Amino acid sequence: MRISYSSLENFKQCPLKYKFSQIDKIKEPKSKEAVFGTYIHKVLKWFYQKDPYFPTLDALLDYYKEHWPKKSEGFEWQDSEEEHSYFKEGMRILEEYYKANIPHQTSILDLETRFEVTIDENPGKQNGKHILTGIIDRIDKLPDGTIEIIDYKTGKRVASQRSVDSNDQLSFYAIGLKSRWPRTKIDKLTLSLYFLKFNEKIKTQRTEQDLEESKEKVIQLIHKIEKSNFEPRSSALCGWCGYRNICPIWRHLYEGQSKSDVNELDIKQKIDKYFELKDKREGIEKELESLRNLIDVYCNQRGLKRVFGENGYFCRTTKNKVSYNIKKLKEVLEPLDKWERILAIDPKKLDRVLKEIPQELRDKIKEAEKIEQEYKYLSSNNVSKKEVEEELE
Ligand code: SF4
Repeated sequence: MRISYSSLENFKQCPLKYKFSQIDKIKEPKSKEAVFGTYIHKVLKWFYQKDPYFPTLDALLDYYKEHWPKKSEGFEWQDSEEEHSYFKEGMRILEEYYKANIPHQTSILDLETRFEVTIDENPGKQNGKHILTGIIDRIDKLPDGTIEIIDYKTGKRVASQRSVDSNDQLSFYAIGLKSRWPRTKIDKLTLSLYFLKFNEKIKTQRTEQDLEESKEKVIQLIHKIEKSNFEPRSSALCGWCGYRNICPIWRHLYEGQSKSDVNELDIKQKIDKYFELKDKREGIEKELESLRNLIDVYCNQRGLKRVFGENGYFCRTTKNKVSYNIKKLKEVLEPLDKWERILAIDPKKLDRVLKEIPQELRDKIKEAEKIEQEYKYLSSNNVSKKEVEEELE
């Protein structure tokens, strides 16, 4: 399989997003954050292309102003206020970036460089060869002769040192760089994420063993893709996904008020009715619970085992919650061939255990997983449409 680093990330984020982009080949409309991020990358590329005659701050800002993305380039800001706020943010980022990075002691080896690495899961055999591709924002040669890979981030959060130390993207970039320049020593390679909004660069390093483990991760992910049924996985990242209006999780939010095509139902009205009844039921359930408690206290105080009303009666019984000595139970049931019949895996308990054991054991258990039956179920959540829309903003 030929796969890019960003497609692997898409799959990890949401299998359906991967399917939309890689299998259905639907181009993802760019969000304003993505347009802004791409533009800042473009400006920094222009700046570093001038190495060693780095432009002045004024020249950098002039370039930024002149090439600001226009409506004609296929993207429309919501309004001029929104555009202005992004524009100002870009000016601030570049100014602070420039001031923090002069004098520019670095020497540029490459900018936005593409790499392709063959990852072979069955060395010596024909099958099992995968090609991993990607683009590295910047490769620098530092004054001490070592190399630094830099990836710019324009997101709203700075990652922790810990997450940068285990960041897959940087490991894949190191693999990419070493395949291009095999003589690069891994201990002479620094990997950095530059969080432009915060003007903060976080550095890390890898070992050869880390790179081997990352290759193994790529192979495992490819296997997961090959077996996937591409179910959507919604998360906070849906807010940045350009496929929301075709995704079965969010599509309905963007559809008009028309009646449903299938049964001529006003589905929105039915959903609201459902939540209205659910609220009523919750009120009734609370009242029933408090009546039960009162009746229980009454029985207890009067020493009664049964109390009567006109329409029914209550019984107060005592039951024991029992547990068994598993070893003894097994000794009796196993010779009768009945032991397996009472064993059942509780998926919720298994999920809890999975969180406590190392990844390699989790993977082994995952391999033992077998889908017995696929079933669909409806779950509900009474969060208002307005709140959902605000969350996606
Ligand atoms: S909107 Fe969310 S769930 Fe839907 S495809 Fe995108 S990431 Fe997946």
